[in-house]
Amino acid sequence: MSKLIDGKLVAQSLKKEIKDEVLKLNKEGINVGLAVILVGDDPASHIYVKNKAATCDTLGIKSFEYNFSNNASTKEILSSIEKLNNDSRVNGILCQLPLPYTIDKKAVIEAISPIKDVDGFHPVNTGKMLSGYGELLPCTPSGIIKLLDYYDIKIEGKNAVVIGRSDIVGKPLAVMLSKRNATVTLCHSKTVDLKSITKTADILISAVGKEGLISADMVKSGATVIDVGINRTDKGLVGDVCFDEVSKVAGYITPVPGGVGPMTIASLMFNTVKAAKIQNGMKI
Ligand code: NAP
Repeated sequence: MSKLIDGKLVAQSLKKEIKDEVLKLNKEGINVGLAVILVGDDPASHIYVKNKAATCDTLGIKSFEYNFSNNASTKEILSSIEKLNNDSRVNGILCQLPLPYTIDKKAVIEAISPIKDVDGFHPVNTGKMLSGYGELLPCTPSGIIKLLDYYDIKIEGKNAVVIGRSDIVGKPLAVMLSKRNATVTLCHSKTVDLKSITKTADILISAVGKEGLISADMVKSGATVIDVGINRTDKGLVGDVCFDEVSKVAGYITPVPGGVGPMTIASLMFNTVKAAKIQNGMKI
């Protein structure tokens, strides 16, 4: 039976460190603020934004919320971002994804000042990450690296297989694992014979959004399995991994919910404090 990777526990410990950092900054006269832009009425996005604001509250970070209707134009959102770029109370800006199809997502991401880009999606931050000196790294992948580190799961020299190549999870995660000297394979929907590749993984990460994608016969005995997927089903939230059967084979495994999710929010708060330090010329 595998050991459970408890994302709630690790996120709690990270949030305690962040809260202490915020207090230290406050003592130096620096307040930390995060602005969240929400466009449209996607119910899941509303829940995520509410959770982010609540987490800010518990950590002493001031949150600013900007809601736009489904009919909002790209221009209106860009103008709001420009104001936030110049607002000294705001250290971090994020635009909750997905955006309605009418909005130019690329323009929105590029409008956020790179030093306030706490999601780490701006091309400047992507480029820095690729060059190995990234400061504001995408939250879900950096949360996953923090989980592995917390449980002392060795990354160097291991075969890491990442399934899913999105800009927000799979691609940056592959880069970060490679930086930590794993040998990385990045799989996607056109990958042929996925099972033959997943079987080689010491660390297997699924970021697809497909219930039941990873069955026990696809997992090497003793492997670490990280489930990023979130699928809403009649049984509630489930991941990509068939948890009951895979947990009999894996060495370590994350649950859904309670695995990667809490780390994503904690990493966002971590980035917000980092951004505040960068903007105040402090060491990070
Ligand atoms: P995305 O943009 O929808 O990308 C999905 C990826 O999965 C694509 O690269 C796609 O390949 C690949 N894929 C689809 N079907 C596949 C298959 N049968 N075999 C192998 N690869 C397949 O996804 P995302 O935004 O990264 O999100 C992925 C999942 O993670 C979703 O369930 C999302 O809700 C969840 N998520 C969770 C968190 C968290 O904090 N827990 C954060 C972000 C996302 P192609 O590139 O070829 O299309």
